Amino acid sequence: MFKLKLHWQIIIGLILGLIYGLIAANNGWGPFTAAWIAPLGTIFINLLKLIAVPLVLSSLITGVASLSDLKKLSRIGGKTIAIYVGTTAVAVTIGLISVNIIQPGDRVPDQMKEKLQKTYEKDAIIKSGSAQNIKDRGPLQPVVDMVPNNFFSSASSNRNMLQVVFVAIFVGIGLIQIPKDKGKPVLDFFEGLNDVVIKLVDLIMLMAPIGVFALIAHTINKVAGDNPSQIMELLGALGYYMFAVIIGLIAHAAITYTGLLKTMTKMPLNVFYRGIAPAQLLAFSTSSSGATLPVTMECCEDELGVSEEVSSFVLPLGATINMDGTALYQAVAAVFIAQTLGMGLDLGAQLTIILTAVLASIGTAAVPGAGIIMLVIILEAVGIPSEGIALILGVDRILDMMRTVINITGDSSVAVIVASSEDQLNIPT
Ligand code: ASP
Repeated sequence: MFKLKLHWQIIIGLILGLIYGLIAANNGWGPFTAAWIAPLGTIFINLLKLIAVPLVLSSLITGVASLSDLKKLSRIGGKTIAIYVGTTAVAVTIGLISVNIIQPGDRVPDQMKEKLQKTYEKDAIIKSGSAQNIKDRGPLQPVVDMVPNNFFSSASSNRNMLQVVFVAIFVGIGLIQIPKDKGKPVLDFFEGLNDVVIKLVDLIMLMAPIGVFALIAHTINKVAGDNPSQIMELLGALGYYMFAVIIGLIAHAAITYTGLLKTMTKMPLNVFYRGIAPAQLLAFSTSSSGATLPVTMECCEDELGVSEEVSSFVLPLGATINMDGTALYQAVAAVFIAQTLGMGLDLGAQLTIILTAVLASIGTAAVPGAGIIMLVIILEAVGIPSEGIALILGVDRILDMMRTVINITGDSSVAVIVASSEDQLNIPT
């Protein structure tokens, strides 16, 4: 029987969701959409989140346990982190170039500035409060946070993915060091669990077109409310700012990822982009690299030929610490807010932005809207009033969808690069 490829099914779901969302917003169907359509999207995201911890745990434990020596693990780890940090710094720089050329802050009409500040004042205060909690922590707190004192409490929240990664590596190392016959039942169990979870990803993806339809319809519903003319006004006022972010994101994918893939691997670009399309579409619809993780892993392994050993280490780590799209957006947003408020930023301030954006993106959670909370920390580092985020809150969700796509594209590119350098890339023919 003729069956449409998954990414086409998802694209159709996305377009239909968009059409339905616009019709619903124009006809005031908000309550109906929230009550009857949105829950389908929530179920879909919940299913993806449900399998993220068992997937990371089982695939990473089996991956690490299959390593013959631990030197390899530290080599893969070192490379991965170095490329992650390097590409993020490039992303921020591209963002700064884009915003300095386009100068979107000088193009917002004065009365609109006031209106935005007023409308989003309350939301801005809430976000600043969340950022303050993060800021009050000590410098080593992120490292401390990686080491859980109880495994079940770390496995109980997807936000603790780094803790799960830590436990999996730790258990994997323990497994290598005990006699093979003792470790075998444990390893067999995790291998079996891994197979089950991978099957579950396939089953969940059967629902992807409907889930994506519901998610997009609901997002439009939330962004536009029942007053679509308001969103048009916002898009008009913040159009140049959005353009600066989007063009930066596209440039980063086209220059940085393409360049690295071309020079460091034999991966044909069409195979790469076709292979990760389902994950990109999902990242766009969910705005969450965390929720997309199971699908990113499956695409990298099945469609791009990255070994499980590499993907199970590089991708969960990337979903939590590697956010090129977010870092780029934070740089553009910080400069945009400064420009709008009439503050000039000298070279020193822009360099501070590069450094803090790289660090802030590492600390950003892989969930919708996390990037703007960490943006507050960057603003404070360069002396821009954090209430300024009120200016950009109205269009943040749209940009969140786009930056999340780049976040997972970055993770996947690095997985391919690391796999290729370890001779663990088996490009499908
Ligand atoms: N939503 C983004 C992600 O999950 C994070 C952010 O920039 O808000 O990758």
